[in-house]
Amino acid sequence: MSVVTINLPDGRSWTPKFVNAINEEKCIGCGRCFKVCGRDVLQLKGVNEDGEYIAVSPDDDDDDDEYEKKVMTIANPMNCVGCEACAKICPKKCYTHMPMDAA
Ligand code: SF4
Ligand code: SF4
Repeated sequence: MSVVTINLPDGRSWTPKFVNAINEEKCIGCGRCFKVCGRDVLQLKGVNEDGEYIAVSPDDDDDDDEYEKKVMTIANPMNCVGCEACAKICPKKCYTHMPMDAA
């Protein structure tokens, strides 16, 4: 199966790998990936004791009782350009990326 590959001006080729999943079990909600993504793909959310998601700001450092932990989620996957900056900066290796099928 072939995947979408970009031919760069200097003769190299690049296969963008698009964000596919974030492992919520591993994620510590540090927000590093959010800060490097310039495409408005990601959204930090709080998870409350019932497993429900609540929108939170990445700059919100206080331990709010409304949620048990913070996790990063994929809010706008279609905005992703496949740069993998998020995966490279993630200290917990939460990310899975996939190339796009050229079908
Ligand atoms: S691969 Fe790039 S564009 Fe896509 S979510 Fe990660 S940092 Fe954002
Ligand atoms: S960098 Fe990794 S651990 Fe930190 S919020 Fe993003 S996915 Fe979670």
